[in-house]
Amino acid sequence: MKLLRAGLAALTLVALGACTTAPSRAPAPAAAAVAAVEAAPPAHDNLNATLWMQSSAEYAATARGIYAAAKRSLDQALEDPNWNALPRGESMSGFESKPPAIIADADETLIDNSAFQARAVIEDRGYTRESWVEWVQARDARAIPGAVEFAQYADSRGVTIFYVTNRDAPDEYEATVANLRKLGFPVAADASNVLLRGDARAPAREKGERRRYVDRSYRVVQMFGDNLGDFLDGINSDVATRQQLMAPYADWWGVRWFMLPNPTYGSWPNAVLRGCEKDTNPRACLRSALRHDY
Ligand SMILES: [Mg+2]
Repeated sequence: MKLLRAGLAALTLVALGACTTAPSRAPAPAAAAVAAVEAAPPAHDNLNATLWMQSSAEYAATARGIYAAAKRSLDQALEDPNWNALPRGESMSGFESKPPAIIADADETLIDNSAFQARAVIEDRGYTRESWVEWVQARDARAIPGAVEFAQYADSRGVTIFYVTNRDAPDEYEATVANLRKLGFPVAADASNVLLRGDARAPAREKGERRRYVDRSYRVVQMFGDNLGDFLDGINSDVATRQQLMAPYADWWGVRWFMLPNPTYGSWPNAVLRGCEKDTNPRACLRSALRHDY
């Protein structure tokens, strides 16, 4: 609204200026000024990113490529009992004889919430908890291209998929299970393979405890996410620390770990914001992190 008001003020000044040079003309009606502002909507930081995920052939191709690579890699993993995709040190000994499992995040990894992001852009606002809960309860998220086909292939190979998501238990559990099932993702009859944040079986906020819960009974052969925290704990840090954390796993990407692109939200902007003073304007802070020296 601030931007709308600023735009209207600017347009009013232009109209007033026009009046001084052409006094015989009638002033433009206010409705025309409003229409002009509506024709040039306010800037929103998520417009391009959301459109890219919703509309571009490039995003769909990227997602399909990731899941195609994952399918080939899964075949390899199932033939090799020593293959394990948990971060080093997280897996208990004796995993070689356990049945295979995959750990996958849900939002922007398997399911597409871009309509939720689009609403925020259209309404010119940011994230609100209230609007998110309403979106989750509607159960209208769609599948990421290639994700259902991959999940069903893994299921056909006898691999259990654990959906490890930071949607909140218990409030979002039922709707999340229903949305996954509606899209064709394999979910156990008792939905025991869906682990939300705060699940009584492993209630820690970060996902490591839930990964170790799966590890007790399964050999985790692949992990999928759109955020570094879907693979490693301790990632709510600065940009350099996050790079250091993932460095030992550089050759796991596209083999044991699969990262889906998500430019619309995640822990990455917070990592950039850590580099700024608390009272810095967030957009100014993000801009100051742009590199132009190479
Ligand atoms: Mg996610």
